[in-house]
Amino acid sequence: MTTLIVLGAGGDLASRLLLPGLADLLVSHHGEELDLRLVGADRDEHDQGWWTERVRTAAESAGASGPSVDRLVATTRYARTDVAADGDLARLLADAAASDVGPDAGSRSAPARGGGDVVCYFALPPSVTAAACRALDPEQVPAGTRLVLEKPFGHDSASAAELNAVLTRLVPEENVHRVDHFLGKSTVLNILGLRFANRLFEPLWSAAHVERVDVVFDEDLGLAGRAGYYDGAGALADMVQSHLLQLLALIAMDPPATISARDLRDRKAEVLRATRLWDEDDPASCTRRARWTAGRLGGQDVGAYADEPGVDPSRETDTLAEVVLAVDTWRWAGVPFRLRSGKALGRRRKEAVVTFRHVPHLPTGLLGTSSPTRLRIGFGPDDITLELDVNGQDDAFSLERSSLRTELSPGELTAYGQVLLGVLHDDPTLSVRGDTAEHCWRVLEPVVQAWRSGRVPLETYPAGSGGPPGRGLLEDVDAQGCADGAPAPAPGPEASGPGRQDEDPPVS
Ligand code: NDP
Repeated sequence: MTTLIVLGAGGDLASRLLLPGLADLLVSHHGEELDLRLVGADRDEHDQGWWTERVRTAAESAGASGPSVDRLVATTRYARTDVAADGDLARLLADAAASDVGPDAGSRSAPARGGGDVVCYFALPPSVTAAACRALDPEQVPAGTRLVLEKPFGHDSASAAELNAVLTRLVPEENVHRVDHFLGKSTVLNILGLRFANRLFEPLWSAAHVERVDVVFDEDLGLAGRAGYYDGAGALADMVQSHLLQLLALIAMDPPATISARDLRDRKAEVLRATRLWDEDDPASCTRRARWTAGRLGGQDVGAYADEPGVDPSRETDTLAEVVLAVDTWRWAGVPFRLRSGKALGRRRKEAVVTFRHVPHLPTGLLGTSSPTRLRIGFGPDDITLELDVNGQDDAFSLERSSLRTELSPGELTAYGQVLLGVLHDDPTLSVRGDTAEHCWRVLEPVVQAWRSGRVPLETYPAGSGGPPGRGLLEDVDAQGCADGAPAPAPGPEASGPGRQDEDPPVS
C-alpha cells in the first residue's frame, strides 16, 4: 500500500491538475497495479466532506469514473496540517507510514504500526515547501519516503543547491522527484525514438550539418488568473529556465545506452553542464525581454499586462523571454540554440525546429530558391514535419517546398497522470535530477543579471501580435524561411502542422 499525501490540498495545482491527473491514472490500465491511499492535507480547518467532494469533483472534471475512482473517494482522508507549525508534518508522515491517517492526524502523535510507502507531494508555495523541508529532521522521515517537489525549484543556482542539500539530508537523491510536468513520457520517448531509432538523423545531428535550433513555446493566453504567481516569476523563470532547457537537453544530448532514468539523466546533465549564454559580453544581442501592451487576443480587446489586477508594473516582469544559448561540445560548437516563450501572442506555437545547413552546391540548372531542410518537432499534440525542397510538379527544373508530416503518440495519460505514475512507481525518468536543477539556473544567471541591471531594455508588443520584431540572432526561424522563399506557416490558431492547437488547460 502506498500513501500519497498531497500537501496544499486546497490549492489550485491540487484541484485543477493533480487530483484530475490521479483520477485519470486510476482509470487507465495502470490503475489496476496501484494499491493507493490518498491523504489531503492543508492548513485550513476543512471537514472530511469538503475533501471528499473535492476529490469527486476533480475526477468528474477529468471524465474519470468507475470502481477505482469510487474506491479513492470512499477511502481518502483529510488531515489538517500546517507544515509551518512545529511537528505537524513529522506527525503526518509518521501516521502515513503507520497507515493511520485520520481527520486530525497531524495534530496528535502517531502510533507506530507497520504501513507502506509514503509519497509526500508538496503542492505548496515554493517558499513554504523549502521551509517545511528545512524544519524536518531526517529521523522524522520514514524510510523509503519519496519527496515530490514542484517548480520552481529554488530561485537561482545557490538556492537550488541549498535546497538540494536539505533534501539529500532527508532522503537519498533517488527518492526526490523534482517535477517537470511539461515533458510527459510520450514526448520524451517521441524525441528519443525519432533521434535514435532512425539511421537518417543522427549522422546529421551536429554542427557540421545543423545551422540552428529553435525551441518556441508561444501561448495565445494571458495570465488566466495567475498574476500572483506569474508576476513574481516571468517567462524566463517560468518557462525557459525549466521546460525549454529540458527540451534543449533532449534535443542536444548524446545517445544514451538505455532509456533508463540513470542513463537519460546522465546524458541530459552532460549537455546542460556544457550550455551557456551565447555572448555574455553582449547580452542585448542574444537575449530579449518584453511585455505585452493593449491589443486584441482571440477576437477580444485585451488590456496591457501592466494594468492586469495583481500586477506590479514596476517589477518589469517579462511576459516574453528569448535567449540564444551555446552548447560547448564537439558536436554543437557554433550552433545557436534559440529558446523563446511568451504569453498573449497571436499564434499558439509549441515546437522545436532543427534547421539544417544549405547544400554545399546546388547543381546548376535547378531553378527556384533552395531553402534549408527543416525538421519540426511539435509538442502538444506531438507531431513531426520534415520540410524539403523537391522538384516542381509543373516544372521539374524548378524547386518547390514540400512537407512530410506525421503525428506521434499522444500518450495515454494527462501530463499530471504521467507525473504521478512516475512518482508512484518510483521511476524518476521524468523528474529533474538535483545537479540538473542547479545548472538550469546557472545557465540563465547572466541573463537575469543583465536584465536586472538594465543592460537589456524591456521591449513591448501588442497582445495578439507575433511579439517584437526579430533582429540578428533573435530573428525567428520562420522569418528566415520566408526570406529564403519558403512558405510561411499559416497565421492564426487554426494553423495546422507546426504550432498546432493544444487542448490542454493553461499550465506552466
Ligand atoms: P496555491 O497558492 O493555489 O495553493 C497552495 C496551498 O498550500 C493553499 O491551499 C495554501 O493554503 C496551502 N498552504 C500554504 N501554506 C501552508 C502551510 N504552512 N501548511 C499547509 N498548507 C499551506 O498554489 P498552487 O497550487 O498554484 O501551486 C503549488 C505549487 O505548484 C507551486 O510550487 C507552484 O509553482 C506549482 N505549480 C502550480 C501550477 C498551477 O497551475 N497552479 C502549475 C505548475 C506548478 P491557503 O489557501 O490557506 O494559503
